[in-house]
Amino acid sequence: MSKLYDVIVLGAGPSGLAAGLYAGRSRLSTLIVEKGQDGGQIAITNEIENYPGGVVGDSGPSLIARMTEQTKKFGAERVSDVIKSVDFSGDVKKLVGAKGEYEARCVILATGAFPRPIGCKNEAKYVGKGISFCATCDASFFEDFEVYVVGGGDAAVEEAMYLTKFARKVTIIHRRDELRAAKSIQEKAFKNPKMNFMWNSVVDEVDGDEILSSMVVKNTKTGELTTIKADPDDGMFGLFGFIGLLPNSHLFEGIIDMDEKGYIKTDDNMHTNIPGVYAAGDIRIKSLRQVVTAAADGAIAATQAEKYIANLK
Ligand code: NAP
Repeated sequence: MSKLYDVIVLGAGPSGLAAGLYAGRSRLSTLIVEKGQDGGQIAITNEIENYPGGVVGDSGPSLIARMTEQTKKFGAERVSDVIKSVDFSGDVKKLVGAKGEYEARCVILATGAFPRPIGCKNEAKYVGKGISFCATCDASFFEDFEVYVVGGGDAAVEEAMYLTKFARKVTIIHRRDELRAAKSIQEKAFKNPKMNFMWNSVVDEVDGDEILSSMVVKNTKTGELTTIKADPDDGMFGLFGFIGLLPNSHLFEGIIDMDEKGYIKTDDNMHTNIPGVYAAGDIRIKSLRQVVTAAADGAIAATQAEKYIANLK
């Protein structure tokens, strides 16, 4: 029979690690289940400049490494597994993974969100062959090439700036004529000589032989289509998508209450519709998805789990 934990935390991004830290520190027996590397979105973020008390120039991976270490210190156990199904119907919550089954009195859902696809024709064919959703992972492949970035939010502009360290020219393709990114981020981008902007534009179609080398961009105001081809000497260019996130919540459909986009409904204390099941971080409905709010959610969820378990005894 598998061990019955007090708390299982599903996901090891900032919210899951904070939940694990608080649960472990409360002496709850805690298991963190993560399918890939720790950090979620932050693992692929080049610079975190707005986490209070963070080190200037700190990267996502280094912040996460410190969070992971701190969580381990307080005794949270770890397992690497992909959860395939959940059963939250009884007092003991069950999670079935590819490698094993896990049981706990409480579960904290911290599975976060993943990048929204660009949404152009032929996209799937060129992912990993010119199209990427992670500048930290793939920027070096585009050393001295031209690169395009789709999006106008914090992620698009920050990651475009990071790409200027590698690419010879970086062009932001944005569907409106004004960026959504924070003003401080915009100011840096407008000053960067390698940055260019295509306003009121979306990518309609991508093409190439083995690798991405042309695309059709549509003007959102006039409908005009423009074909962009790789410089013949390059034979390729990069296209990075940063147009927001989609929640990683399909596993809980029909079990946990969500909105029409798949974000989980919680109250201010991270309670879902099922007693003993909490949601924390980007996966839940909230107004600000940042490391600081994710970590706060995780701390609240673990504290609520502690109270729930105390009431069971
Ligand atoms: P976001 O803030 O939701 O911005 C998404 C951008 O993509 C917007 O500019 C949006 O255009 C555009 N977009 C959305 N759907 C599109 C589509 N189908 N086609 C073309 N463009 C589309 O997402 P994000 O930048 O990934 O950030 C996600 C969250 O992480 C946010 O809460 C953000 O603040 C946070 N974040 C923070 C930092 C930081 O503070 N340093 C860094 C990265 C991310 P419109 O503007 O026209 O809507």
